[in-house]
Amino acid sequence: MPGSPAPPLYQIETLAPGVFAAIATGFESFCNAAVVDLGGLVILFDTGQTPRAGRFLKRAALTLTGRTPDLVVNSHGHFDHINGNAALADSAILLSSATAHREILARALELARAQSAPETITTSLREVRADLERRPNHPAAADWCLRAEYLAMLARNLPQLRVCPPHVTFGKRLLLRGRHLTAVLESHSNAHSASDTVLSLPDVGVALMGDLGFSGEHRPPVSQERAGRWREILSLLRRSGCEIFLPGHGPVTDRSGLDQMRAHLAHSSQRAGSTHVNER
Ligand SMILES: [Zn+2]
Repeated sequence: MPGSPAPPLYQIETLAPGVFAAIATGFESFCNAAVVDLGGLVILFDTGQTPRAGRFLKRAALTLTGRTPDLVVNSHGHFDHINGNAALADSAILLSSATAHREILARALELARAQSAPETITTSLREVRADLERRPNHPAAADWCLRAEYLAMLARNLPQLRVCPPHVTFGKRLLLRGRHLTAVLESHSNAHSASDTVLSLPDVGVALMGDLGFSGEHRPPVSQERAGRWREILSLLRRSGCEIFLPGHGPVTDRSGLDQMRAHLAHSSQRAGSTHVNER
């Protein structure tokens, strides 16, 4: 409606003192993010699907902690977790695993290709909408709806999207020590993507899972090979001492949520056969 304020991109929830979840509420944000104040060091975990999401998170960090993020962690290299980097690249250090960094560089090429031929996106959008009109009761109609919304968002935002690769990379594990809290970053390979980083806060029993976590309606299909590895990682997290888990998509959950994810992965990999997760 003309003149009505834009809906908020995230809903903020406090998970522990100094630890705030930003739960995505629409396609411009799309993935969850988090602001963590370690004490003298403020981390933003993931930056959302658009520069606008990144700007929102930067402002949220300032409101919640009194400073803008010092460090931005990209959990992995999919567009919905990195496109907000553009709003932070000049004021914060961007960080990811070395493998995710390679993936993000590949995303830059992909984006350049899309920007040089934007009609491929509008054509795909027209095709998905036509499928929906022709077969509104098809079992995949809900997925087509999501795809149509995603493509519409992409077409709107394409000219201003810019991939900003991380400035600093790490291998398997990295510790960040603040005055109040310590963050443990651990990269896990070949589950959801080539590399997914979980940020754990042992002092307060919170884990930020990126897309190794999903809850609510977001249920990715996955190949059998990757599901096995993914389930092992979920078992490790279950035994990690953490009790509060922020997934990349869906509401905050607990250990029972991890059990549901494991069950979904077992079921989905049997159904999906060799279908790979292809979510960006
Ligand atoms: Zn995601």
